[in-house]
Amino acid sequence: MEKSARSPFRSYLWLIFFILVLVWILQTLKGNSTSYSYGQLQNDLIEGKVVGCEITPDTTGKCGYVAVELKNGAVQRVYVTDVNEADNLLRAAGVDPVIKDKAVSTWITNILLPIILLAFVIVFLMSALLGSAQGQSQGSRMLNFGKIRINIINGDGKITFADVAGLKEEKEELSEIVDFLKDPGKYSSLGARIPKGVLLEGAPGTGKTLLAKAVAGEAKVPFLSISGSDFVEMFVGVGASRVRDLFEEAKKRMPCIIFIDEIDAVARRRGTGLGGGHDEREQTLNQLLVEMDGFKENSGIIVMAATNRVDILDPAILRPGRFDRKVTVQRPDVAGREEILKVHARNKKLAEDVNLENIARTTAGFTGADLENLMNEAAIGAARTGSPFITASQIKDAFVKVGMGTEKKSRIISEKEKKITAYHETGHAILFHVLPDVGPVYSISIIPTGVGAAGYTMPLPDRDEMFLSKSKMLQDIMVTLGGRIAEEIIFGDITTGASSDIKKATKEARSMVTKFGMSDNIGVVCYDDDDDEVFIGRDLAHAKSHSEEVAGEIDREVKAIIDDCYKKAKDIILEHQGVLHKCAELLMEKEKIGREEFEALFGVN
Ligand code: ADP
Ligand code: ZN
Repeated sequence: MEKSARSPFRSYLWLIFFILVLVWILQTLKGNSTSYSYGQLQNDLIEGKVVGCEITPDTTGKCGYVAVELKNGAVQRVYVTDVNEADNLLRAAGVDPVIKDKAVSTWITNILLPIILLAFVIVFLMSALLGSAQGQSQGSRMLNFGKIRINIINGDGKITFADVAGLKEEKEELSEIVDFLKDPGKYSSLGARIPKGVLLEGAPGTGKTLLAKAVAGEAKVPFLSISGSDFVEMFVGVGASRVRDLFEEAKKRMPCIIFIDEIDAVARRRGTGLGGGHDEREQTLNQLLVEMDGFKENSGIIVMAATNRVDILDPAILRPGRFDRKVTVQRPDVAGREEILKVHARNKKLAEDVNLENIARTTAGFTGADLENLMNEAAIGAARTGSPFITASQIKDAFVKVGMGTEKKSRIISEKEKKITAYHETGHAILFHVLPDVGPVYSISIIPTGVGAAGYTMPLPDRDEMFLSKSKMLQDIMVTLGGRIAEEIIFGDITTGASSDIKKATKEARSMVTKFGMSDNIGVVCYDDDDDEVFIGRDLAHAKSHSEEVAGEIDREVKAIIDDCYKKAKDIILEHQGVLHKCAELLMEKEKIGREEFEALFGVN
């Protein structure tokens, strides 16, 4: 069952504000919109049309409203700038005006409303001031009018790993957490340490929320979820107190899972924002860290968080005892997409001409959410035409609709592009495999990421090496050039896809020459002493520490290194042309291959 506990404070606040402004506007309009003028009043008096009159001075006492009753029964109002003059005028014409008390309405608009508005301004200012005096203070507690909105699913076990298609490795990594939540005692009695926090990283729609829910479902424990952006409110201090509330709720329900979606909204690198680094987000993050440090390991709360931007996260949250477990949720490959399609076709009637495998093939780059959307659109299409089944052509229509979102459009790639990417990545992979100081290859993928990269080749993580040797750096450059070389060998043509590779290789070669003294011709001299410091205008301010002549020599050296690497790398790839073709073909079929499959290709060569 889902339950939601959000106080309507914020909406009330705005409602009150809105009403006040409305009243004010109406008052103002009322004051100005009369079509009855002072001149007309004079006319009416002269013509003897006026039978009665009321004068209501406003707060100034000098100006005010004159309401006149005419012979025909109409009542007209006119604003006068001098009530005494109006009084005299009326008396002279033989009408005895009734003088009323000072107007209440003008009292509201002229005095009460400004006071209320001023009070609002003061509250805003106070919240900002109190914010920098830390979230714990009495004052900011006072401003915490709102309770958080936590979605709570009680441990009903409705969503399990069976609902999560594909993502085999990810599920494996998380099964330990499930095990722990089922019986926290077992682990603590053995002295095993279970992570407090798990960070799920991956593109939107790849199933991070679904996975977290499934972990809770498998363990049959409550699932408390909140979005990172819910913490960040306009009132300083609210975010921090919401974090406290969240953990209080969790402590009542142990063992359980806390899920924070879009954690990057809170946990962005500190000290980069405007406002001197004392802002609301930072306080919220600090509070989150305090809470995570505060509860004991193995206490039965696991905090899971999702993001698609690990690169902008504050490193503090990745320290031991916080989110020290990271699970990368990948976009599905062909087989994964077929499984996801099967899950979402479960309760839908498909016509016989629908082939889920074919659909999986044509949807490279789609996430689980995209595929779910696709099946849903197809079902809607079928319902609209009154057909009892979802047909292949309805899925095709849905594909056009779902796939043509501006961002996804770039992800739908042609066979030709797929082929180029496959050869490109294989080029990198072969060099990783053959050269001694780099690699081995962990996985190769040509699944489009939607953010530029058409594929990737991933080596096993580097052993922590303190020093880079010259030969290792040269091998790195060769690997980097490998993609472009493979394209050239196979297609005899060069695409723009390799431009970032070339940039990277050039940069590395240049630092060999100018920073590490690795070039024989230039010698052991450092011509580049910037500390990779990032500030605007660095390159402008960067004083050249060498002459034009040396600059020319550096360029020649860099080019010589690149040319040499290119030639050597090309020879290696040519030597393994058989693997190049086989691997690229395998990649086009499966989109992603792992270490064993790749290395097996060399065996049969
Ligand atoms: P994220 O949290 O990564 O943005 P979600 O978990 O919210 O993505 O996924 C959105 C929807 O996409 C899910 O509700 C589910 O219907 C579908 N989906 C995503 N991945 C999968 C998957 N591996 N298997 C089945 N459905 C999936
Ligand atoms: Zn490349």
